[in-house]
Amino acid sequence: MTIALVAATARGRAAAEDLVRAWPGRATLVEGPVGDALRTAFTSYDQVVAFLAVGATVRVLAPLLADKTTDPPVVCVDESRRYAVAVLGTHHGADALAHEVTAVLGGEPVITTASDAAGVPPLDSFAAHLGLRVADRAPLAQVGAALLSGAPIRLENPDAWPLPPLPANVTPDAPNPAAIIHIGPPTTTAPTSTPEPALGAAPEATPGPTPEPALGHGPDSTPSSTPSSTPSSTPEPTPSSTPEPTPSSTPEPTPSSAPEPTLGPVHGTAPAPGGSRGSAPAPAPAPQVSRETTPVTLRYDPPDLIVGVGSARGVPADEVDALIDTVIQESGRAPASLRAIATLDLKSDEPGILEAARRRDLPLLTYPAADLATEQVPTPSETVRAAVGTPSVAEAAALRAARDAGRAAELVVAKHTTRNATAALARLRPRGRLAIVGLGPGDPDLLTPAARTELARASDVVGLDQYLDQVRALLRAGTTVHSSGLGQEEERARTAVHLAAEGRAVALIGSGDAGVYAMAAPALEMAGPDIDVVGVPGITAATAASGLLGAALGHDHALISLSDLHTPWPAIERRVRAAAEADLVVCFYNPRSRGRDWQLGHAIGLLGAHRPPTTPVGYVREATRPEQQVTLTTLDAFDPSEVDMRTVVIVGSSQSRLVSGRFVTPRGYRWADA
Ligand code: SAH
Repeated sequence: MTIALVAATARGRAAAEDLVRAWPGRATLVEGPVGDALRTAFTSYDQVVAFLAVGATVRVLAPLLADKTTDPPVVCVDESRRYAVAVLGTHHGADALAHEVTAVLGGEPVITTASDAAGVPPLDSFAAHLGLRVADRAPLAQVGAALLSGAPIRLENPDAWPLPPLPANVTPDAPNPAAIIHIGPPTTTAPTSTPEPALGAAPEATPGPTPEPALGHGPDSTPSSTPSSTPSSTPEPTPSSTPEPTPSSTPEPTPSSAPEPTLGPVHGTAPAPGGSRGSAPAPAPAPQVSRETTPVTLRYDPPDLIVGVGSARGVPADEVDALIDTVIQESGRAPASLRAIATLDLKSDEPGILEAARRRDLPLLTYPAADLATEQVPTPSETVRAAVGTPSVAEAAALRAARDAGRAAELVVAKHTTRNATAALARLRPRGRLAIVGLGPGDPDLLTPAARTELARASDVVGLDQYLDQVRALLRAGTTVHSSGLGQEEERARTAVHLAAEGRAVALIGSGDAGVYAMAAPALEMAGPDIDVVGVPGITAATAASGLLGAALGHDHALISLSDLHTPWPAIERRVRAAAEADLVVCFYNPRSRGRDWQLGHAIGLLGAHRPPTTPVGYVREATRPEQQVTLTTLDAFDPSEVDMRTVVIVGSSQSRLVSGRFVTPRGYRWADA
């Protein structure tokens, strides 16, 4: 992705050069008279950032505009770098580019796209973080219009991908929807389905031997006994094994069985196997909708398929490629859903397989025979075992790679065999997502962009009521807020983990860093391996206070909570003594409350035994909040009764000192010797 930069003035040039430095190899300053440079940028690069007025840019580019899906996105930045305006191709990269530019140059992205303005995730970047791809761009405009108009839109998400909140008009059970958003496998019985072996089942599930042509061209080209696997062996041409062009989006209904030939599979509603976002799946309606009222469907392909491949030596890449197409077609899915090719490690240098992976731009994952031998597969082969040490390559590698991704996996297409190759397809189930998000000490400027992103993409936000109030404006419309009061920590952790285990996108929030004396540990004590966990660090009270005081944590330090709610006092005291002896700077959290008023004084006494009375002590109340109070004193003058629970206290080491009224703990740098 190359970005052309065009500048008309010295200030614009300087800003452009900042981008070139920030994006080495990615951004290029196009030289020459500005009109020519802009035209070159637009016609020869992927994206354009113009340090020019919007009007001038539009005038130059107007004659060149063709199609918003193919034109490069254009962002204009003003002279003083206050704004990066997404001008052209807003949904096709300009909105994102404007955000990227301001991340480097500062200023504000100016986004005028209606759906963004309304807080609605644009449909073509919708769920992009999950790797979901729009299968066919044609319905985008219609579905986008329906989304903004408030018309009912049905969300079909049978695998429960953890999606961001969607506008209120998008529901799993919208009756008579104007549009459908569908993610994952078709929800009605795909016409390609054929009697398949009991997938994922033990070897005994394999049907009896079927006469197959002896293919014996190598270890893993042993004939399979899968009934649907080998076109030539099947007397009846089954839809699945026939290389008919039946992509999943426009399947031919099976003439004999389909009662109404009006609806494709994505238009029906079937009971959702994995539950669909909390509401009961609608009963499958009789497909009586006429063509005129058939809602337009926008389909997203999730990256959930892994194809396992085995081959004889010297297999042609075309054969592997065609076989992969065959199994994908049988699954009723799109090639865009493939995430990797998996095989035996002995095949890691097999040119035909490597080339097939290269053509599809897929990673090749390889496994030793011993690993593959432990997978339970439907069509094991003793001949293969004798040759390579595992009874299955294609099925076992697909399953193994899927399991390695840490997800529940199932085989969706059992082994297919051609002359020199075998292939099978496994599917990963998505998992719910728990983001543990630190909000920082209070100032919204100290909330990280990563935290903002997580808050905006969570369908459910769980937290203490007062913190939720702080971030409510950052949540998208439709976010479910689960708020609770002080003392309900365990319930909060349980709620967050439970929602994530249901497949939802959850943000569990906490002040400062949510892992420091906060919710991360109790939540992760409860969380099983069935969810994805994302930790978003925040600025903790200790670093916030240290920065306000000077450089209090400049050398080794300890954080100690004086709360004896979860830790018995003798243990706390032992830690304070150890820190005192080790001459660590100590930052006390939870220093003092109404019912706990002597501990801080006692702890200070323990430290005082090991460091001079002039040692700096700093304390910050409500750091970075409007009521902030920063106090700097010394050990002998410190009065613990000035401190409350909204305060952190930092006691210096024997090396800490006041320098020009600032708390500094030197690290003993000797620059001259360095
Ligand atoms: N997770 C939080 C800490 C929670 S424990 C963090 O990383 O900062 C609660 C204690 O943190 C309070 O008793 C107080 O000692 C300290 N604290 C949290 N925010 C603070 C702030 N803005 N100013 C001063 N102290 C704070």
